[in-house]
Amino acid sequence: MKVGFIGLGHMGGPMCRNIIKGGHEVVVHDLSEAAVQACVEIGGVAGGSVANTAAGADVVMTSLPMPKDVEAVALGPDGIIANAKAGTIYIDLSTNSPSMMKKIAGEMAAKDITTLDGPVSGGVVGAEKATIAIMVGGDKSAFDSCMPIFESFGKTIVHTGELGSGCVAKLVNNMIAFVNMTAAAEGLMLGVAAGMDPVVLNEIVRNASGNSMGYRGVAKSALERDFAPAFTVDLAYKDMRLALELADELDMPLFLGPQVHSVMRMARSKDQGGENVTAVLKVYEAAMGQQVGPAGKNS
Ligand code: NAD
Repeated sequence: MKVGFIGLGHMGGPMCRNIIKGGHEVVVHDLSEAAVQACVEIGGVAGGSVANTAAGADVVMTSLPMPKDVEAVALGPDGIIANAKAGTIYIDLSTNSPSMMKKIAGEMAAKDITTLDGPVSGGVVGAEKATIAIMVGGDKSAFDSCMPIFESFGKTIVHTGELGSGCVAKLVNNMIAFVNMTAAAEGLMLGVAAGMDPVVLNEIVRNASGNSMGYRGVAKSALERDFAPAFTVDLAYKDMRLALELADELDMPLFLGPQVHSVMRMARSKDQGGENVTAVLKVYEAAMGQQVGPAGKNS
């Protein structure tokens, strides 16, 4: 199957390169020429535009930052809907809103294009190693027919149910992870403010019941003073907003989610939106006028 891949960033770049390495014919597009070149060097073909990338493809994939970016690329006048042939399968790999995916799928269906939502989890390292999880909602036979492509860039590939359910699974996962990370930031700051050596504190927590993947991420950033973006505060903030919107649609009370969303909002107000999501720690450090992490290392 011929693949069109749009959005070659932190996640899309390595995912797309793994599809190319898997032997598939792939046309690629991104606003960044360097990102396109990295795929062309290993056998991808530059599409030059969304229109050219979608035209002629059997499967079109997007990995884009915000729901509005996906909407514009999918449904815009020069977008996928206007250029993909009937029978195309469109898969959005971004973390998107379930209701947005249903809207896109409805319009695509009128052009005989089948839509799947297939958000991914496992971070940039997982994307590079092709070990990410892919959670796919929508038509099962379309899912089955794309399995060889999914297997080229992911490891745990799950059909989650109806369209939008992949996004639901992803938003739930991320909300749990970000609540964990914020709890880690709060706890580490409390311990250090109380005079604990952060290295000793970390040795305790990572081997005790406070441990989690989220905890380890925050502790690593704190101790190494490394907040270089792999998954930005801005994207995490977007994911939390989408989870809150989902709860709104369901009239479900959320207690922790809105608090974590506000911590992220504070980080963004301090120009930390482009830093790694673990920079939520800096909100606590600013409040205490004190840094978690070895003295002398500043960032
Ligand atoms: P990113 O900002 O690194 O990459 C997005 C890419 O899309 C950029 O290269 C940008 O140039 C390109 N782009 C934007 N608008 C475009 C357009 N109109 N046409 C063509 N290209 C366009 O973002 P990312 O971190 O790769 O995240 C992408 C999606 O994956 C997001 O929805 C995010 O929430 C999700 N996600 C990210 C991670 C992570 O660890 N970074 C993990 C899981 C899921």
